[in-house]
Amino acid sequence: MRLHKAESAFFVFIVVILAAGVVTFQAYGVLETTAVTVSDTRAATGIGQLEKLLFATGVLLATALFFGIFFIYPLIRTQVKEEGKLREMTMTLSQRSETLQHAALTDSLTGMHNRRYFDDALREYIAEFRRIDRPVGLMVLDLDHFKQVNDTHGHDVGDEVLRAVAGCLKDLTRYHDVVARVGGEEFAVVAPNMDTDQLAKLAERIRKAIAGMAVLSGNVRLRITTSMGLAVWDGEETAEGFYRRADKLLYEAKRLGRNRICA
Ligand code: GH3
Ligand code: MG
Ligand code: MG
Repeated sequence: MRLHKAESAFFVFIVVILAAGVVTFQAYGVLETTAVTVSDTRAATGIGQLEKLLFATGVLLATALFFGIFFIYPLIRTQVKEEGKLREMTMTLSQRSETLQHAALTDSLTGMHNRRYFDDALREYIAEFRRIDRPVGLMVLDLDHFKQVNDTHGHDVGDEVLRAVAGCLKDLTRYHDVVARVGGEEFAVVAPNMDTDQLAKLAERIRKAIAGMAVLSGNVRLRITTSMGLAVWDGEETAEGFYRRADKLLYEAKRLGRNRICA
């Protein structure tokens, strides 16, 4: 059993009182034996008074022991228990708030970051990279004719496709790239330290991987393609302006026939 600090202090206190009791009892004994050998009446009176004082001390120590054990200790126990309960509650609350915070920034379908997380991350990367003068790449993806997938194979299969695309994006990006589901069938990637060429190569790998993916729906092997808009931060624009530019290029890719990349 682990003792609370207050309990340990209380036990030390009790041990000190008991020790004082033993010393008092010993002193009383010494006085008793001395009293027998003393013949001087004044000294005998003094010894008699000392014995009374030691007896009173003993009674006071016994009272302190009684109060300590039957009144103070139960109070300490109650407080220790309440403190324990409070600590448990605080821990549960802080765990819950962590879970809530995680949920607020995570897309529940794919387990990847959500729009809110992505917007913050993009803003933070831009603020950092403004100082070190390195490129930041941005990729905005939208699945092609995804409504047809839902309409033909059902919403559950659509969800399966979204999860498969998310897995593919996670596999093909680097640790410090931020990948998020930013809308229904829209995804985005911030790729720090990537110039236009590197970004285009990564985007092409992703486009091919998604086009080559097959999601099974019954006997049907389902194929999906994606269109992408790419942009590299110009060093001036805001996160919103940067995203808008990549988004416009995505719609250009759609307009030009889908399953392609516009940069
Ligand atoms: P486009 O090539 O122009 O992008 O065509 P699209 O059909 O992909 O675009 P549209 O915006 O018409 O449809 C998007 C569809 O995405 C409609 C909606 O039902 C589907 N969708 C959005 N969120 C989810 C989701 O969480 N699960 C599933 N299964 N479908 C979703
Ligand atoms: Mg869309
Ligand atoms: Mg779409």
